[in-house]
Amino acid sequence: MNKKNIAIIGGGASALMLACSLDASKYTVSIYEKNAALGRKFLVAGKGGFNLTHSENIEQFTERYHPKQFIKPFLKHFSNADFRDWLKSIGIETYVGTSKRVFPVKGIKPIEVLNAIESVLKKNNVSIHYNHEWKGWKNNDLIFSHDNDTKIIKPDYVIFALGGASWKVTGSAGNWTSYFEEKGIEINSFYPSNCAYKINWNQELLKQISGQALKNCEFYYGNMHKKGEAVLTDFGIEGSGIYGLSKEIREQLINYNQRHPELNSGSNEMLNQVQDDQTKSVAELFIDFKPELSIQEIQSRFEHRGKLSVKDVLEKKLNLSITQIQLLKHKTTKEEYNQPEIISQLIKKFPLILTDFAPIDDAISTVGGIGLEEVNDTLELKKLPNHYCMGEMLDWDAPTGGYLLQACFSMGKFVADKLNVKS
Ligand SMILES: Cc1cc2nc3c(=O)[nH]c(=O)nc-3n(C[C@H](O)[C@H](O)[C@H](O)COP(=O)(O)OP(=O)(O)OC[C@H]3O[C@@H](n4cnc5c(N)ncnc54)[C@H](O)[C@@H]3O)c2cc1C
Repeated sequence: MNKKNIAIIGGGASALMLACSLDASKYTVSIYEKNAALGRKFLVAGKGGFNLTHSENIEQFTERYHPKQFIKPFLKHFSNADFRDWLKSIGIETYVGTSKRVFPVKGIKPIEVLNAIESVLKKNNVSIHYNHEWKGWKNNDLIFSHDNDTKIIKPDYVIFALGGASWKVTGSAGNWTSYFEEKGIEINSFYPSNCAYKINWNQELLKQISGQALKNCEFYYGNMHKKGEAVLTDFGIEGSGIYGLSKEIREQLINYNQRHPELNSGSNEMLNQVQDDQTKSVAELFIDFKPELSIQEIQSRFEHRGKLSVKDVLEKKLNLSITQIQLLKHKTTKEEYNQPEIISQLIKKFPLILTDFAPIDDAISTVGGIGLEEVNDTLELKKLPNHYCMGEMLDWDAPTGGYLLQACFSMGKFVADKLNVKS
């Protein structure tokens, strides 16, 4: 039987799973990666704990994605439990942490996980072409730049796994959009997700709180709320508590820019008008510093404080951190600070005004890229038969916590299995 050629472009998480899972008796598989190594972003994700997936049940798991109907079939095909079994089969044992996130067992470094995956690629006879940057099409053939030279190839199937548009140093630069647009494929603008948000801090307050964490809080945005923690930084705020609210916060901040395109037009008159309208530009985040206590319970601790000062109640009876107390102090006048009713309300609903998102390159992930309506239910481009797209280059969103990597691995396995049964 004549084997068909598959070219996988990009060598990140989704590509690795795809190449490991393609049937080598049916296909000759090649990965073309612009870097001199595979999986650079995969390794970056491994810094500070390699959170490969999450252990929650698959129904709850699926709820984390936007749009969940798009991701559901891939998770159903290759779930978080399947992923853990697969990792075990290649010698990577995992464990569930206290946060229910899944990590390689202690002692296994991210590079060892990557090496284990690369040994599967070797066994599967996948050839890897490093330093090959895809530069678009010449007619329908693929153009690569390699060693200051141009290479043209014409495989039977092409699978794009080019990643999102953050952490460009890892190779995922999002600079391929024009090639698809030339083919009439709809591209949505990239925006940061799972990122920090800007707060115009008072400078005196900032000196006290910069670098401090808010732990065991509940974060509210609109109808959404997430438990978690956040770090207060010179730029603003970031952390697990707000990453899960990224979609809603981002939409508010983007809507404002879209309602006010004149912001970029340079018209002073318009700019002044917009600045007068500043309150609409922002996203208002609320933090519950004491999610386990009702406002009545908090107030009752003040009522039974005896000779304790407000600070003592906050510190000793409510166990608030110094940072939380500094925030409360800054938000109130002396009089307000001493009124249990006002201070209790603020403990349950502390407001922070977010004015912008972090630069896209700093974001953990991005949304935008190839519009989901451009692919069919096997991730094949509707306008380019035999060409597939997967991973973060497609316009879906999820919080960190293992959900991003799991979706990428699930898509890789799904596309491989679809191709494996193709006649
Ligand atoms: C700091 C950080 C921490 C993270 N932590 C987590 C976490 O804890 N849990 C989690 O689930 N996810 C995490 N992620 C996200 C996760 O790493 C990504 O979502 C995932 O790697 C995306 O996989 P992918 O296959 O779509 O693309 P990528 O892994 O981004 O790979 C794309 C590949 O394509 C190559 N490429 C791009 N353009 C071209 C071209 N023109 N020609 C050839 N090759 C090209 C790139 O060099 C790159 O190797 C984190 C990300 C970052 C940055």
